Amino acid sequence: MAVRVLLVEDDDGVADALSESLHARGHPVTRVARGSDALTRHRDADLVLLDLGLPDLDGLDVLRKIRQVSEVAVVVLTARDDERSVVRGLRLGADDYLAKPVRLAELLARMDAVVRRAGARTAPAADTVRIEDVEIDLGARRVLVGGVDVGLTTKEFDVLAVLAARPGTAVSRQQLMDEVWGDAYLAVSRSLDVHLTQLRAKLNRPGLLSTIRGFGYRLGG
Ligand code: CA
Repeated sequence: MAVRVLLVEDDDGVADALSESLHARGHPVTRVARGSDALTRHRDADLVLLDLGLPDLDGLDVLRKIRQVSEVAVVVLTARDDERSVVRGLRLGADDYLAKPVRLAELLARMDAVVRRAGARTAPAADTVRIEDVEIDLGARRVLVGGVDVGLTTKEFDVLAVLAARPGTAVSRQQLMDEVWGDAYLAVSRSLDVHLTQLRAKLNRPGLLSTIRGFGYRLGG
């Protein structure tokens, strides 16, 4: 199966060699040299190969930011084969790591495994979430309260869907904005409040959507 790879590597020699080898095995590769570009391009990839030593951002910061918004498979490439970077990388959510110079056979062997694991993570757990008499159909993007269809706007539904994906779990404002608007800095914090107010009014089930003061929100539980 072809794996769409985002290669984040500032060294042209390493990048060209890896791109060529992966292309030859049928894997499309997009290469970027800067961490900031990785943050905007990872959405189109099945696997991010992430060098830690980048010119603009620390690779571990790039990893942390990607993990705030995505479950895409990430394999860290490290010239620093010191244990600390590797351990930090894995703790921050890297699926695996490879010390440079990368051996192609080893990379290919690990790619399948990490992409399969990441796929299992992102598969939707349930299409419909039920809390008391509220039924949220994530596939059909429809909400029934007491059997009556509640008309939500696109953004209202998006906000609810993020919360419904983790019922009973507190979700931070930051994460809500990241997931609904793509990146928190694009979202106006005030507009999240507006959507939440509308959502509460339309659901009309006091206590269903709790505010976790200073943190975020929770649906049910
Ligand atoms: Ca580098």
